[in-house]
Amino acid sequence: MNSITANSEWVGARGSERAPKRLTGLCASGSRYLARIVPTKPVRAKNAHPIVSFTFDDVPDSARTNGARILDRHGVRGTFYVAPGICGTQDEHWTVIDMRGVADLARSGHEIGCHTYSHVKVQSLTQSDLARETQRCFEALRDVGGSAVSKNFAYPFGNVSFPRKFQLDAQFTSCRSIYTGLNSGLIDLAMLRSVELYDRTSTEKSINAILDHAIATNAWVIFYTHDVTPNPSWIGASPTHLDMAVRAAKARGIQCLAVDEALTAIGVRA
Ligand SMILES: [Zn+2]
Repeated sequence: MNSITANSEWVGARGSERAPKRLTGLCASGSRYLARIVPTKPVRAKNAHPIVSFTFDDVPDSARTNGARILDRHGVRGTFYVAPGICGTQDEHWTVIDMRGVADLARSGHEIGCHTYSHVKVQSLTQSDLARETQRCFEALRDVGGSAVSKNFAYPFGNVSFPRKFQLDAQFTSCRSIYTGLNSGLIDLAMLRSVELYDRTSTEKSINAILDHAIATNAWVIFYTHDVTPNPSWIGASPTHLDMAVRAAKARGIQCLAVDEALTAIGVRA
């Protein structure tokens, strides 16, 4: 399991402090590195059992028509991180869900999270631009998703600087990264670790190994993917692959929870 690092190995966490001014002058890569390794919202996970979450970024329409339907069949809620500004548009790889699709997901009981308004790299934004992005995202989602809209965020492209991480962790209950790892012990709610659920990079064997590791370490596994189609993009999953992962978790008796439910299970209040 060398590629899987637990989100629990840090020391010196001082979550109540804000970013010192001198850190805002860091080079871009240094700032990203600090954001990754320095916990700004540390919490001790108190889950009684391991947890698996299935999350979808952007969200391609097939994540709703195929992905959500698979979760529905298994009685599992997913978390869909939506950027309303790109809803209904045609991407290089897929058609992005439109707002009616977002409403459909919400009605079906799934969690709607925020992924900025315009699907932009957070690091590229000023403080006021980011504040505007998240406010617009939240308002647009609330209009269609109602109470299904949570205060959980996923970084577009996994990109964030140290100052913007501080800004977001004050606004959101959790922020999910794309840094590979499981979440157990002392975890950083502002940099939740995740695991790709892509046909290209995972297999039944690798997923089984991750789930077994989660049981051994009482961890929270957050899978993430994009499109869910028989011939998925390089960052997507086939329906068969997603179904296999859900079945593998259920076969082990691991509870499958949306991110908001998982946070409650680890003892975090929204
Ligand atoms: Zn994205």
